[in-house]
Amino acid sequence: MRITVLGSGTSQGVPVVACPCAVCHSTDEKDKRLRSSIMIEENDTAVVIDAGPDFRQQMLRQQVKQLDAILITHTHKDHIAGLDDVRSFNYLSQKPMTVYATKKDQQAIMREFFYAFTEQPYPGVPRIQFQDLTETPFKIGSLEIIPLKVMHMRLEVFGFRLKDFAYITDVNHIPDKTMKLLEGVKVIILDALRKEKHLSHFTLDEAIEVARQLKVEQAYFTHISHLMGFHQQVQNELPDNMSLAWDGLIIDL
Ligand SMILES: [Zn+2]
Ligand SMILES: [Zn+2]
Repeated sequence: MRITVLGSGTSQGVPVVACPCAVCHSTDEKDKRLRSSIMIEENDTAVVIDAGPDFRQQMLRQQVKQLDAILITHTHKDHIAGLDDVRSFNYLSQKPMTVYATKKDQQAIMREFFYAFTEQPYPGVPRIQFQDLTETPFKIGSLEIIPLKVMHMRLEVFGFRLKDFAYITDVNHIPDKTMKLLEGVKVIILDALRKEKHLSHFTLDEAIEVARQLKVEQAYFTHISHLMGFHQQVQNELPDNMSLAWDGLIIDL
């Protein structure tokens, strides 16, 4: 199984010319973060978790020609805004894109992309086929996926476990039941927005603590704001088996 980090940033941390901060103008490639998303590949199966505003750019950069499904953690804009661009995959595969989302998130996506869900949509609109995402594990090709319910302030959000790997973005609390489901995970990619406290995201210290509790062999942190500081500087402060994720990071498991 191969994990590719497509993006490790947040809307607050995507470099914008107008931002006067040094991190947004850093020349280190690892400080250039697109919105958080990963791709998971095994044999002929490829799935992406979340499709934010940078989805198109991420698919171009990785030269992705085929996707079996998109899994949606939650429907904040930085995780779904790119769904319009599944139309190219529709065109190539001649079928709708399978999107796993909770019933509630399906409603939100249908509101957001209303033009794709009318009775007689225009030709060329993105075509999406929903699959219900619940706490029940499911399979896509050879990938066995265990949904992980976590809290993003008051919002229920899903993370995912595949074998010894877990991906949890946009979280500030992991319920005990989910901690149990995470037992034995060796590699985790986990939300760590910045160093200062935040209402709906783990801070770096909180994420380190969770990684320690889980006794993972390797933790990568994601959904990183520019307020976190320079990649290299923060990297030097982290325990040996923990790292900030970066765009383009590949993990073979
Ligand atoms: Zn969010
Ligand atoms: Zn987010």
